[in-house]
Amino acid sequence: MKRGLPKVDIEGLTSFIPEDEIFQWLEKTKNPSKERVREIIQRSLDKNRLEPEEMATLINANSPEMAEEIFEGARALKEKIYGNRIVLFAPLYVGNECINNCQYCGFRCTNSEVARKTLSMPELEQEIEALVNRGHKRLIMVYGEHPQYDAQFIHDSVQTVYAQKYGNGEIRRVNINAAPLDHDGFKLVKSAEIGTYQIFQETYHQETYKKQHPSGPKSEYLWRLHGLDRAQEAGIDDVGIGALMGLFDWRFETMALLYHTIHLEERFNVGPHTISFPRIEPAIGTETAKYQGVSDFDFKRLVAILRLAVPYTGLILTCRESVELRNEIIKFGVSQIDAGSDIGVGAYSAKDDESYKKSQFVLNDGRSLDQVIRELCEADFIPSFCTGCYRLGRTGEHFMEFAIPGFVKRFCTPNAVLTFLEYMEDYSSPETKKIGMKQVERELDRMPEGDQKLQLIERIEQIKQGARDLYF
Ligand code: SAM
Ligand code: SF4
Repeated sequence: MKRGLPKVDIEGLTSFIPEDEIFQWLEKTKNPSKERVREIIQRSLDKNRLEPEEMATLINANSPEMAEEIFEGARALKEKIYGNRIVLFAPLYVGNECINNCQYCGFRCTNSEVARKTLSMPELEQEIEALVNRGHKRLIMVYGEHPQYDAQFIHDSVQTVYAQKYGNGEIRRVNINAAPLDHDGFKLVKSAEIGTYQIFQETYHQETYKKQHPSGPKSEYLWRLHGLDRAQEAGIDDVGIGALMGLFDWRFETMALLYHTIHLEERFNVGPHTISFPRIEPAIGTETAKYQGVSDFDFKRLVAILRLAVPYTGLILTCRESVELRNEIIKFGVSQIDAGSDIGVGAYSAKDDESYKKSQFVLNDGRSLDQVIRELCEADFIPSFCTGCYRLGRTGEHFMEFAIPGFVKRFCTPNAVLTFLEYMEDYSSPETKKIGMKQVERELDRMPEGDQKLQLIERIEQIKQGARDLYF
């Protein structure tokens, strides 16, 4: 395959984000009645994906009292469908060279304050060793957009990651956050057995998009907007969408995320695997204070509204957010969080005081993986490193969790227990193990008696005897 970045080609592409219609819905649904809001929450609890008019109504239900009902609805949905497990992952920054000029990002090409760095393959191996030795099993690998980081490079770096094994551990699922590729590029990256390919549109509002992305391949809105269509056409089943909250009105962006979801459903019969909604964080050499931002209250509302609107989609919350807010929002139905994250390029293995200079932005949750896990258990969550579905070819598993009655009980909870136990056997501090084992016992107590429970108990014993990587 030809090396380098793909040719940006937007011939024949049009936008599937109807900007005027979004503004109209947000206008038409102002001051909704309590009855209407409750009706919509109920529709979601009955396992329906919401329509744009319904989402706009929830967005306009902005009194503290109505917001509380929406939070309660989201909590109930999360408990009813997904239970109390939280999947953990770590971001791995592979390189911060970039030819784009995104105004909010520390990696943009015009930023002279950031120290540029690309991991060599041996350095990548060192990063993996450090991550595996802390207990990680799932990664999101992040790349700037640069001719060096073409599809072949992404493919090769993913293969390098999967080939590493340290003690009892290895990385079992690699997701990607990188620039949109062409069909051939996506096919090549898929052949390295990636999990989800994420592309955030940043802002779905075209005029704002243009201002924020003045040059480079990313300046072409439509090439990016259709990126995940090309990924699907090339055979990548799991795709992740997202918007960078704070560039434009969060109400518009949240609606646009729903329209993007509906577009993918209509074209490929399956919506996005995950939705991300990062808020802009301060970044080195970058004027981020100028953005309008999203208040904590509105941020909580947007997460709860997304949970209700797309009940079968995974929601990701990152260490950009503070511990307090993360603890609260997890209960609204976030299914994955990162933990023990370091976003300096090379920072996991070679911690230097200067690593922040190679970072894209600043994190607000600096807890170690072990500490996050301990605190999750204390709050009655069960941490999970499960990669079972993906390894058994059950792609779109989030949809199955949602759509197949009993799926979470049959597969997800037992797999969470098994992967968590592996973590405790191999990596956790004694304190976390003590608290974690109690959580495992609580989970067993909650399981109905029967074959499933007996099989799980048997596998728990096998892991205690040294077996690894067992899943249902
Ligand atoms: N270069 C690829 C791209 O732009 O799609 C992927 C990597 S980029 C580093 C990953 C994401 O980081 C972006 O999509 C953007 O949403 C987010 N990001 C950029 N600057 C940020 C900031 N200051 N605060 C929070 N998130 C930021
Ligand atoms: Fe480059 Fe991505 Fe940062 Fe934009 S967001 S400057 S494309 S790394």
